[in-house]
Amino acid sequence: MKDCIFCKIVKGEIPSKKIYEDDKILVFYDIEPKAPVHFLVIPKEHISGAGEINSENSEIVARIFEVIPKVAADLGVGSYRIVTNNGPDAGQTVFHLHFHVMGGKVLGNMA
Ligand code: 5GP
Ligand code: ZN
Repeated sequence: MKDCIFCKIVKGEIPSKKIYEDDKILVFYDIEPKAPVHFLVIPKEHISGAGEINSENSEIVARIFEVIPKVAADLGVGSYRIVTNNGPDAGQTVFHLHFHVMGGKVLGNMA
């Protein structure tokens, strides 16, 4: 989608520190990490957020959740938190579905 930062990252128009890529998924480090290990997992297809997941596109979510443990293991992270913010009031700032994966330290309580 035009003007979507993460679509531009998928197309290589904005650089990113890629960790993993396949035909449908891209994993890259968050530019402002909130934990020693903080990467983002996105579908290459533009879906604006978790609220837009439906029966037509939900298969990608299963694929993403297969990739997460593999990438975390490759990075040597055994404990991690997976977060997705849906909507501005929940802190979503990039409106292309993404899952934050954070670890590498003892994380505080979820909030
Ligand atoms: P949200 O706030 O939507 O849940 O998460 C968006 C995340 O994308 C933020 O953690 C932010 O640091 C990250 N981010 C925003 N722009 C870029 C960028 O251009 N490159 C990378 N690698 N991360 C970005
Ligand atoms: Zn997008």
